Amino acid sequence: MSKFDQKYEPVIGLEVHAQLLTETKLFCSCSTKFGNSPNSNICPICLGHPGVLPVLNKKAVEFAVMMGISTNCKINRHSIFARKNYFYPDLPKGYQISQYEEPLCENGFITITGKDGTEKNIRIKRIHLEEDAGKSIHNKYDSTLIDVNRCGVPLIEIVTEPDISSPEEAYLYLMKIKQIVLYLEICDGNMEEGSLRCDANISVRLKGESKLGTKTEIKNMNSFRNVERALDYEIERQINSLEDGEEIIQQTLLWNADTDQAYPMRTKEEEHDYRYFPDPDLTPLFINDEWYNEIKNSIPELPDIRLKRFIDFYSLPQYDAEILTQDKSIADYYEMVAKNSKEYKLVSNWIMVDVMSVLNSKNITIKEFTVKPEYLSKLINLISDNVISNKIAKEVFQIMLENNQDPDVIVKEKNLIQISDEKVIIEIVNRVMESNPDQLNEYLSGKDKVVGFFVGQIMKLTKGKANPQLVNKILIEQLNNKKNNL
Ligand code: ADP
Ligand code: ZN
Ligand code: MG
Repeated sequence: MSKFDQKYEPVIGLEVHAQLLTETKLFCSCSTKFGNSPNSNICPICLGHPGVLPVLNKKAVEFAVMMGISTNCKINRHSIFARKNYFYPDLPKGYQISQYEEPLCENGFITITGKDGTEKNIRIKRIHLEEDAGKSIHNKYDSTLIDVNRCGVPLIEIVTEPDISSPEEAYLYLMKIKQIVLYLEICDGNMEEGSLRCDANISVRLKGESKLGTKTEIKNMNSFRNVERALDYEIERQINSLEDGEEIIQQTLLWNADTDQAYPMRTKEEEHDYRYFPDPDLTPLFINDEWYNEIKNSIPELPDIRLKRFIDFYSLPQYDAEILTQDKSIADYYEMVAKNSKEYKLVSNWIMVDVMSVLNSKNITIKEFTVKPEYLSKLINLISDNVISNKIAKEVFQIMLENNQDPDVIVKEKNLIQISDEKVIIEIVNRVMESNPDQLNEYLSGKDKVVGFFVGQIMKLTKGKANPQLVNKILIEQLNNKKNNL
């Protein structure tokens, strides 16, 4: 990165906002649907008209608690909501309902794994519930339009301790957060569309120094890669400033992906600028044992545990298990195929190579993939049982992609069953040797390379259906017979 790598170390803390997949908003029954016409999903509550009363969305609380448990947080059975006051054109209420003192979840951690396999815990300071603000749309006529549909949409904010030591670690942390919310099905994880948003806090200090340096905060990064890039940029800028004898100013910066630079937006507000106070319209939130256990029991197997199980139960290499469990739906698909087959590694190969390349080339998700898991199991079993060769299986797979047919039916109808009858293969081998006397003489004079030619001819004659292992074995036997009879 820079020539001062040995002298300084970066310190990073991330604040991630995740939009929860509830049907309705956090304190009213308006729809959270994205893309409805501007200012249509609104009511007096989310607009903060005088005299209205917010009512807390139970599902949103459950989603937040699920995230807290999944990130090893302590769940505060008693928490309160606070008003965070600030003026912003897309915040008609003039305040945002959030949690300040007594957040729902505190003191957790998640584990990230580096490329070399080293694990590191990133501590989570708090996870709280809050409502989103609206959106300002700056148009080409130099005016600004306000869409308040998003006002009141439920978010969780996940705040780390300053434990992240490099842009790569920040990237791994975000990937892990995304993976967990997708496994929990509490957020769609789409950073480009703003359902996951990240603000990065960054400072640098001399290596070995324990005091934290002055931090800046970068906003407006709409992809994980941009977070990494913005951090690289800001670390270098801060180091250069310090080397020039300048002081770091605590401020908020906006990332511009077009210029690959961050620009100052404002100097940072202090906490007291927001005039936090407990929202008088909302009672404290209590979570009793019964409700807590109900939420806890609704948590599915999490990615780290599933990864370990894939390695232990299916005897898959770490690499395969990582790829297959990255996305919950792919892992589910793998298990549905594996359930009806014995060769777990072969199933893994088919999904990692053949299925995933279809997903990539068609730009679809596994949920939109048309081949039924039962049919893929059948196809793979046809290979394991030596009914068809791997090569024929690829052809059958192409047909399955087009018409969703049962592979058993395809193999029968197209007469693709592998020829494994030794007598038949011996007969074909001899026929091929007789009709190619030149190549046969080459072999007899010591040119072993022509074996490949014969295999090719046999496969051509059988339309690829001859069992390749048997062909190789019998061909060599027959050729050697000829040699010995010379
Ligand atoms: P603020 O009052 O500016 O919101 P917080 O203490 O709430 O600051 O922390 C916000 C985020 O910034 C957290 O993720 C925290 O870990 C991180 N953070 C705090 N101080 C520093 C620092 N000096 N350098 C880097 N990150 C920091
Ligand atoms: Zn509303
Ligand atoms: Mg703060």
